[in-house]
Amino acid sequence: MHAIATSAKRAVSTLTDVLWPGRSLVSGEPARGALSAEDFAALRFLTGALCQSCARPQEVDLGAGTICVVCQARTPLWRRAHAALVYDDVSRVPILGLKRAGRRDGLKVMANWMVAAARDSLERADLIVPVPLHYFRLVRRGYNQSGWLASAVGAQAGVKVAHGLVKRVRATPSQAGLNARARHRNVQGAFGVSESAAKRVAGASIVLVDDVMTTGATLKAVTRALLNAGAKEVNIVVLARVVKPEEITI
Ligand SMILES: [Zn+2]
Repeated sequence: MHAIATSAKRAVSTLTDVLWPGRSLVSGEPARGALSAEDFAALRFLTGALCQSCARPQEVDLGAGTICVVCQARTPLWRRAHAALVYDDVSRVPILGLKRAGRRDGLKVMANWMVAAARDSLERADLIVPVPLHYFRLVRRGYNQSGWLASAVGAQAGVKVAHGLVKRVRATPSQAGLNARARHRNVQGAFGVSESAAKRVAGASIVLVDDVMTTGATLKAVTRALLNAGAKEVNIVVLARVVKPEEITI
């Protein structure tokens, strides 16, 4: 019975491949699975010496507990931040596929990378929360890519995901094209936690999920809303992180 089910499944998947061949998340070329070996090799994973507060790569490995000069000058509101990939011309393609085209077939593999990068914070997490879209943008787009990533990460890490816990209380113009200072001003006070939702937040260790960290302005604003609502701590998990300011194109 099991063998029949397996061979039936294989037949269906072969048929699906013929009717709708898989495409690489990076090159867009037909591929078996989400990535070819070359695509995988082209992605820059954030490993090695990283700032534990913001996941910025460090030139010198000072061991666990390294904090970069930026975070030393101004301690982030969140406890730790984790990022799986460097945001660059290669990782940009699957991220925009997710964000703009609603391509979901890479979610599992992306969540896998995020879980591996953020094990420390996920092990202590009570709740995963995605960065929300404003209602109007959600209605127009039809989905929130951060919500998809949060669900996929939650399923793999075995942590509950709370959608809709944090709300955008103010619609904000897109962050694209703004410099760091303008980005912070743009999202300041844009997020809130309702009184009923605050009961779930109070005393909880929360993992906040987004697709990309650019300047961290949005993540900071959401973190502030969660801490104001009584969260014990907030940790950040993103798929990719902008490492150089000139890479802020999203
Ligand atoms: Zn740092």
